[in-house]
Amino acid sequence: MSTLDKAYKEIEGIIGSKYITEKDFMKAAYSRNVDPAFPDRWADMIVRPVSSEEVSAIVKIANKFKIPMVPRGGGADLVGGSVTQGGILLDLTRMNNILQINEENFYCEVEAGITWGALISNLHEKGLTTGVLGPGSGFSATIGGGLSNSTAGFGSTKYGVVPDICLGVEVVLPNPQGSIIRTGAATNKYAEPFCRYGVAPDFTGLFMGDVGTMGIKTKVFLKLFPVTPFKAQRYYILNKNDYNKVYELLRRLRTEVRDGLHDVLVVPLITMQLLASMVENKPIKRPRLKGPIFSILVEAMDERILDVYLEQVANIMKEDAREFEMQEVDLDATLSRDWKFNLKYAYNYFNKYISVAPPKISCTTCHKVPISAIPEVAEKSAQFDLKYRSEFPVGSISLFATVIFLLPNGNCVIVGGFNADNIDEQREASMKMWHKKLRLQVRYGGVHYWLGEAISQSIVEADAYTPDFIQFFKNMKKTVDPNFLLSPNKFHMYNYDDDMASHIIKED
Ligand SMILES: Cc1cc2nc3c(=O)[nH]c(=O)nc-3n(C[C@H](O)[C@H](O)[C@H](O)COP(=O)(O)OP(=O)(O)OC[C@H]3O[C@@H](n4cnc5c(N)ncnc54)[C@H](O)[C@@H]3O)c2cc1C
Repeated sequence: MSTLDKAYKEIEGIIGSKYITEKDFMKAAYSRNVDPAFPDRWADMIVRPVSSEEVSAIVKIANKFKIPMVPRGGGADLVGGSVTQGGILLDLTRMNNILQINEENFYCEVEAGITWGALISNLHEKGLTTGVLGPGSGFSATIGGGLSNSTAGFGSTKYGVVPDICLGVEVVLPNPQGSIIRTGAATNKYAEPFCRYGVAPDFTGLFMGDVGTMGIKTKVFLKLFPVTPFKAQRYYILNKNDYNKVYELLRRLRTEVRDGLHDVLVVPLITMQLLASMVENKPIKRPRLKGPIFSILVEAMDERILDVYLEQVANIMKEDAREFEMQEVDLDATLSRDWKFNLKYAYNYFNKYISVAPPKISCTTCHKVPISAIPEVAEKSAQFDLKYRSEFPVGSISLFATVIFLLPNGNCVIVGGFNADNIDEQREASMKMWHKKLRLQVRYGGVHYWLGEAISQSIVEADAYTPDFIQFFKNMKKTVDPNFLLSPNKFHMYNYDDDMASHIIKED
């Protein structure tokens, strides 16, 4: 019997034959995320544990037979994060229970494989919300994936990225003991998981944005907020295409409207033109679009306060922009005054920006920059696209930003990337160009969030980490994963002896 067969049998003995498979059609089904620049990769087996204890038992077996493992939530990753070539793919979506919604103290405890859609719809019935509602893919993406990818999404302008609402986690460490630990207040076995800091060093952070390299999250404790009853959306179009102005206006909105801002999105002119050209129900007379569109969503607990916020927004925008309606380019669009928040909106609004010309390979390069850097990075990005135009796959469209999303303080997400035809001949060129563009962004100080394989490796290639940091990172990982089994390849880490610096690419 091979090592894999022995491990399979032992795991089967723990979780039952229904929840483990090595069938080809299942391996194929799990061989990709939403990232067709990668070739498909088949795990040796797919396992679907239902409890932390089962995860721990699987981890012990993996250590016994030295089999690598990759955790997977909804598999909505865009950067090669939740697939594995060989080894064990740990599908956590059976761990999908809400364990506690504590309405008195505004926190909840859930299993990490629950989807955002399932949790948020349940919370909304109780007048509660997590504030940030997870990614645009949230109907199928999980809370565990959101924490592991430092996800930004609907509500992030006000509530931050997903780790910002995290009060702690329960994690199975990938060590031979399959240790189960809790972080945050829950580290104190007598305490409820109501806050994050104060019991021990903040080990929660070790598992945030780790893209599944440091542990397998099995339970999550999240902050809750009362649903804010009044929300309104307005659009403005800038009089000219000027990123300096974009920065100035974002800064004023952040300074003067502050807590009222729920989501601020800037749709660049080029994105708007592309979207307008794809609309089915176009008006006969269309406006000449001259600048980016600002989509501003404000919220308040009292309608009078909401009106004040709207007035402040109008005052800030009046000199450089005019009010805009999506109906000017799309007769089917809702007028902003008729807009009403619903959960479908929270998860659908984003889709039109993620890939402006589907079905294509989408090489996403979403990253964060300080708002004052927007004009400079827009210029650098444009210069890069021009300089390397011939190296992009034929017919590919590369955009600096399909949308810019304001985050708390002076921080924003540049959602962007490039696409290519979804054919084998373009995959290699896409991957090469993707890494190159990511290295540019790392070197101009951009900070990404979902790192998966493509981005975590590009950060190493760009020489972003100091030698001391690399050593620290390896030491920390070695502490939790002495046999180096969890999520190999990410960060160009293949074993503890490998020199990560050998992957640095200097010539760009
Ligand atoms: C249409 C679309 C829209 C999107 N919009 C956004 C967006 O607005 N914002 C955004 O940030 N992302 C977005 N994404 C990317 C992605 O969906 C999110 O990052 C999402 O949070 C991933 O969650 P998931 O459960 O699908 O994770 P997966 O894809 O399953 O996994 C993501 C990473 O987390 C690790 N992981 C998953 N679960 C665990 C766990 N329990 N323990 C340890 N590691 C784990 C995996 O190994 C992998 O590295 C979008 C993707 C699509 C297709």
